Amino acid sequence: MESAVKDDIPQYSLCVQCGRCSSGCPVAFESEDTPRKIIRFLQWGWLKEACESPFLWLCATCQVCKVRCPRGVKIPEIMLALRRTAQQKGWVMAGEKLLFYRTFMEMVKKKGRISELHLGLAAALGKMPSHPIDEALLFLKLLKRGKIR
Ligand code: SF4
Ligand code: SF4
Repeated sequence: MESAVKDDIPQYSLCVQCGRCSSGCPVAFESEDTPRKIIRFLQWGWLKEACESPFLWLCATCQVCKVRCPRGVKIPEIMLALRRTAQQKGWVMAGEKLLFYRTFMEMVKKKGRISELHLGLAAALGKMPSHPIDEALLFLKLLKRGKIR
């Protein structure tokens, strides 16, 4: 890994892959990746893969992982450093995922919270659903059960 980038991403080499960070992370369930997996990418020297993970943009920098980590790895700082690197190098995700996360972040910036209804509609309109009837039925089912607000 390039030394300038390595210096900016603190302590990932201390990680022993115990997974305590991921099991306490409140947003890990939303992504295929986890804090542990991102740290693993770095240990393998896979900086680009780490920077392209949507998980970076989900991280709420809540500090739970840092408190739980037995090795004192500063995971929220690593996530922020990776965001900077991703933007500097142009290693950002593309397509539907990018649309979803951009919409997500814009809502947080504007209102400080997420409207699941607006986020779902923005994502569906942006990607032109491949199974519009199925997705509309699922949407109505979730709405009826109070799962979307
Ligand atoms: S700081 Fe980020 S990675 Fe760590 S627990 Fe919070 S949301 Fe998860
Ligand atoms: S809690 Fe710390 S040591 Fe364990 S997997 Fe996460 S970063 Fe690595």
